[in-house]
Amino acid sequence: MAKVYFIDMHMSSSENISSKIKKLFYKLEVNSIINEKDFVAIKTHFGEYGNIAYLPPAIIRAFVDCVKDLKANPFITDANTLYRGSRSNAIDHLKNAEMNGFSIFSCGAPVIIADGLRGNDFKEIPASGKWYSSVKVASAIHDADAMIVVSHVKGHELYGFGGAIKNIAMGCAPPSMKQSLHSDLKPRVKQALCTSCGACIKRCPAFAISFDENKKAFIDSNKCFGCGECTVICIYNAIPVVWKTDATALFERTAEYVNAFMKLKKNKVAFFNFIMNVSPECDCCYWNDMPIVPNIGILASTDPIAIDRASVDLINKAIPLPGSRIAGKDASKDNITALYPVQWQYLFTYAASLGAGDEKYELIEM
Ligand code: SF4
Ligand code: SF4
Repeated sequence: MAKVYFIDMHMSSSENISSKIKKLFYKLEVNSIINEKDFVAIKTHFGEYGNIAYLPPAIIRAFVDCVKDLKANPFITDANTLYRGSRSNAIDHLKNAEMNGFSIFSCGAPVIIADGLRGNDFKEIPASGKWYSSVKVASAIHDADAMIVVSHVKGHELYGFGGAIKNIAMGCAPPSMKQSLHSDLKPRVKQALCTSCGACIKRCPAFAISFDENKKAFIDSNKCFGCGECTVICIYNAIPVVWKTDATALFERTAEYVNAFMKLKKNKVAFFNFIMNVSPECDCCYWNDMPIVPNIGILASTDPIAIDRASVDLINKAIPLPGSRIAGKDASKDNITALYPVQWQYLFTYAASLGAGDEKYELIEM
């Protein structure tokens, strides 16, 4: 059974957010997974511009300070997005991070976009399961000696909730891997938008794209294996993202990614979940509706499945906030299901069956 440490959100003159984080950091013995001079990735989410529910820089600063105390080299990181918002390439992503308050000055460590300028800097690692024999991990995250995954727990339109699992699977994946996690459907070219630049043809690893008689890109669906690289490379939006998602397949692919990731980072990763400002939508949205439950606390574990399961259980035990999206909900539904009608339990069950973590946990209150 996995251990999950919990500390509530009450603060006072004798204990603030930094001291609570430090207490959890040492209780979880994160110091034992970090050596002097290690490059330590602190994985967070900088928040889409316009969103204000994401975890603030002061929280990240507290982790940076803990890592620096160990004479290691922290950096703050995230990977580029699949959709074309304010974080789909490293330049926009860095500007967005600065606008939302994340910089070497505010956080005490540099911000590095883990998968590079255009989201094509990644490493492939072995995976096993129904969907994948390998998955892609953003290079800076792959290459880090140790990792601290700092997650804002909130609602999510596809998963029901977002926490450590999503912060690994979608969060550490380059855009083409994000496309693959979302859908195994093959993309099609919107020929009216194609400028015949040829970039997708050069990039396609399956040699599935060629020009047709009108010199417009055309995808041979018999050769295409749905890697998503062409969607990312086409700056003219002529190969749109395929968002259509089967929830069961999404959960299985996500779990397989997490399982592969945990093998890569065995004994070198720690997870911290913040159940505060639990907005109905993901921090990828450029808005955030009011929280659905009160601020609950901070959790710490070395097990991504256990920490997310504990987070969901705590949210489901909480009384919905008046005026929130789930106020006056059907009493037979838990809070997450009332928010989004998804079978969120299956993500945990499938991930645990692969060995990615343990759904059973012991909650240790501090
Ligand atoms: S990258 Fe886009 S614009 Fe360029 S050839 Fe391919 S589909 Fe057309
Ligand atoms: S999804 Fe991948 S394999 Fe399919 S056409 Fe695009 S780049 Fe080629």
